[in-house]
Amino acid sequence: MSEVICQGCGAVIQSTDPKQPGFAPKSALEKDDVICKRCFRLKHYNEVQDVPYQDDDFLEMLNQISKNKGLIVQLVDIFDFNGSFIPGLKRLTGQNPIILVGNKMDVLPKSVNHNKVKQWLRHEAKEQGLKVEDIYLISAEKQQGIDDLSIAIDRYRDRGDVYVVGTTNVGKSTFINALINRTSGVENAITTSYFPGTTLGFIDIPLDAQSSLFDTPGVIHRHQMAHYVSDQDLKVITPRKEVKPKVYQLNEQQTLYFGGLARLDFEAGERSSFICYLSNDMPIHRTKLEKADELYEHHLGELLSPPDSQTIEQLPPLKGTTFKIERPKTDVVFSGLGWITVPEGNLTVTAYAPEGVRVSLRNSLI
Ligand code: GDP
Repeated sequence: MSEVICQGCGAVIQSTDPKQPGFAPKSALEKDDVICKRCFRLKHYNEVQDVPYQDDDFLEMLNQISKNKGLIVQLVDIFDFNGSFIPGLKRLTGQNPIILVGNKMDVLPKSVNHNKVKQWLRHEAKEQGLKVEDIYLISAEKQQGIDDLSIAIDRYRDRGDVYVVGTTNVGKSTFINALINRTSGVENAITTSYFPGTTLGFIDIPLDAQSSLFDTPGVIHRHQMAHYVSDQDLKVITPRKEVKPKVYQLNEQQTLYFGGLARLDFEAGERSSFICYLSNDMPIHRTKLEKADELYEHHLGELLSPPDSQTIEQLPPLKGTTFKIERPKTDVVFSGLGWITVPEGNLTVTAYAPEGVRVSLRNSLI
């Protein structure tokens, strides 16, 4: 059979892998001017399709950006920094300045100190080899912080283009819509464009006569908790409202289960209070450490849920990391779920999360 080429982007049409360029369902192949699903959605819904991080076209696009002058705005989810950070961004985008934007701040408890959140984001970015010009905290959904960020973008872009990048689910679409909302008169000017040398179309929002803001495809990050759980479970574990802390007084040799998706063993230390900052719908179970494995074996998906049956099929096994904590109040952060604040003192804890999902420590945000 001869190759069919997408009339939109030039990719070779294929019907096997919806996540790869050129995908079109078999039914679409009967038409005269075949376009791939990505182009179809872009054309009809102004919607950019997600791509895997290793997608050659995506890397080529980042490489092209490095050759142009422009400001990079990287969006991350403050509840899932490790799952939402694009690795190697600096290497791939060259000398262009980067603003890091932490989204979904509306779900943080009011008592959280925003400066501490920024310090933590800066530290994490640096750990990943990324030097950022500035850090902003926003809620795209509640339209908080958009004005300040928009002013900063104008200042840093220095009349150049702006590229908004982020992994799937960080709220990039919500953010771009909020931004457009603020900039009156731009709505009808949205066009669709293809980056030279790639099959990736994205949305070009003119800022002025010479420059544009580009909405780039969302990158699929393998280590995001969101990819391991069913849609139903994702609703349970994703905080939608301000997170209400839940306090547990624990003796050593006790365990907390967060559904069956994560677990914290209090191995050694004085009786202390552990404060859990997770989605308000996330069930927490306390048990004795010696009974914890058995509970998991027999009650995963029932007493310990989420995961539901669909998630269980794709969930990697839980992997534990042991931390000896000596510094003052510390957060044990489960990327994509939330965090547990442990009090100051000498404690040893083991934190379990699905293999690939990162668990880390930081100075308490509160
Ligand atoms: P994209 O995949 O990066 O384009 O992300 P979307 O804009 O589709 O948003 C992903 C999910 O995050 C949706 O369920 C949004 O409702 C939610 N979301 C986006 N922005 C915010 C925010 O500022 N706060 C909260 N709580 N949720 C948000």
